[in-house]
Amino acid sequence: MLRGAIAEIDLNAVSRNFRTVKRLSGNRRVIAVVKADAYGHGAVEVAKRLADEGVLFLAVAFTGEAGRLREAGIKTPLLVLFDKDVSPDFFEYHLTPVIHDLPTARRFSKEAGKRNRSLDVHVKIDTGMGRLGFHSRDMLEEIKAIWNMPNLRITGLMSHFSDSDIADTSYAEKQMKSFHAVREALMKKSKTPLLCHMANSAAVMTLPESYFDAVRPGLMLYGCSPVQDTGFNPPLSPLSKGGIKGGHRASCIVHRASSLKPAMKVKTEILSLRRLQKGSPVSYGRTFITRRNSLIAVLPVGYADGYSRMLTNAMDVLVRGKRAPVVGRVCMDLTMVDVTGIKGAKERDEVVILGRQDHEEITASEMAAKAGTISYEILTSLGSRSRRIYV
Ligand SMILES: *Cc1c(COP(=O)(O)O)cnc(C)c1O
Repeated sequence: MLRGAIAEIDLNAVSRNFRTVKRLSGNRRVIAVVKADAYGHGAVEVAKRLADEGVLFLAVAFTGEAGRLREAGIKTPLLVLFDKDVSPDFFEYHLTPVIHDLPTARRFSKEAGKRNRSLDVHVKIDTGMGRLGFHSRDMLEEIKAIWNMPNLRITGLMSHFSDSDIADTSYAEKQMKSFHAVREALMKKSKTPLLCHMANSAAVMTLPESYFDAVRPGLMLYGCSPVQDTGFNPPLSPLSKGGIKGGHRASCIVHRASSLKPAMKVKTEILSLRRLQKGSPVSYGRTFITRRNSLIAVLPVGYADGYSRMLTNAMDVLVRGKRAPVVGRVCMDLTMVDVTGIKGAKERDEVVILGRQDHEEITASEMAAKAGTISYEILTSLGSRSRRIYV
């Protein structure tokens, strides 16, 4: 008997989305974000596929993730986004750290010196995300100090947008302007070429001015649009010169989103089927009472499997190509759905929790909207807790 859920990962969809990123970004080089086990899709398998597609860099959050990719034989350059510990892994695995502050730069330089090595680093500036990166008025001086460290070589400059959807572009434009200014100031003095990168998925979809030398998407590689996700609503504030304007921009974005193909399908099967009389309560707290004689299916999936309890009485699943509503509270290991009227429903039938079945589809953004979150969290929670298979 199946317990929990199976996540079917379609690596061809990842390839296709990668090519869509290339096409949309005017063939820019791509730094693919594979943090959090590739948003729940499995970092090793996704990385292998993206390496075959010619990705420039893979970006992970912490060195442990980078180590696992190297151990699996991935040779692609790896960018470590957030770590501040000078682990030996940086040298042994040839990792590129992102430097957010001067003390960390000094520690890396010292360690590189001890090993008689030179280490390539990317420098991050905070243009308004308020999280990590150089942000003070002396920022340029600080970055120049890194330049003068004998064992570090600045090969990249990056920043991160504060909006993951960029429905209103005005703040993003302010961020780009700051990034431009720092870039200009540094380019004049740089001894080595600087790879400048800023665009997350939303920017790849909406802001051509943000492409610089390379783009840095995550979510859209997995086939979800960050822009649709938060209920993107035209008309928008007009874009600056060279951008896509107003209503036209909106229709471009919808068109672009439609070329993305979700790479994750999550499915399970019916554990048990039971007939309940009209007026019967279902699950903890009796939040659902049958309004007719009903056929209720019990699924071996619950919030311990990443199926949010927020989906209680709010979400549908797919059975035999039809929508079946979740009824009653989602439990730790079990969820009940109403399959009254779904002809032929029987125990062990396939149930699709996320993705397509025949002509029906449940998207991560639909589930996110109903659970009060974003599709990023849907993918990471379901993906990391399901048994993964690759197709
Ligand atoms: C997660 C992340 C990205 C990717 O963002 P998406 O919205 O998934 O495209 C890019 N850059 C940094 C620094 C990130 O943390």
